[in-house]
Amino acid sequence: MENIELVFATNNQNKVKEIRSILKEPFQVITLLKAGIDIDIPEPHATLEANASEKSSTIHRITNKNCFSEDTGLEVFTLNGEPGVKSARYAGEERNFQDNIVLLLEKLHGASDRTAQFRTVVSLIWNDQEYLFTGICKGRIIEQQKGAEGFGYDPVFIPDGSDKTFAEMSMEEKNKFSHRKKAVAQLIDFLKQKVS
Ligand code: IMP
Repeated sequence: MENIELVFATNNQNKVKEIRSILKEPFQVITLLKAGIDIDIPEPHATLEANASEKSSTIHRITNKNCFSEDTGLEVFTLNGEPGVKSARYAGEERNFQDNIVLLLEKLHGASDRTAQFRTVVSLIWNDQEYLFTGICKGRIIEQQKGAEGFGYDPVFIPDGSDKTFAEMSMEEKNKFSHRKKAVAQLIDFLKQKVS
């Protein structure tokens, strides 16, 4: 099968690493850096779906190439789905992972229900048409941070079926559970049908 190039509309290098560990040949993930695009991609909307669409359509407008984006939120049941779409900026515009975790743990102080889920929405623009895919990973927020791998809320999130946080897992282990992996697996199935 020929190589299939897809521009990945993100500036988050952690996500690039994770996506490249999932989206392998014949797919070729082109970063914004490689595509020569240096913009702060907007995420102004109230839903993950709308933000993902905005990111992929922004990059599609600039490159006119097949591309995809993803938007992910951590949804905590007892906080009515917070931080959700605000996950990156929960504690402020600096988008500081540590500050976000500290705020989350403060809000959950004494909570008996600590169930949460990561939800990823992938927006693919393929031959000028948009397609959305969703992946969910259910789990819980623990009281103290554990592990040094990964990014974002990984040190406080334990997925159902494991006793380790995402930050205590290798990327391969995280991918067995991960919301992003589930959404991208659907994207791969879809593309395989389109190109077969
Ligand atoms: P966005 O999709 O870049 O808006 O991501 C929102 C925020 O969610 C990130 O800044 C992280 O804090 C968090 N996040 C997204 N994906 C993950 C993940 O796989 N593990 C932990 N935190 C994540």
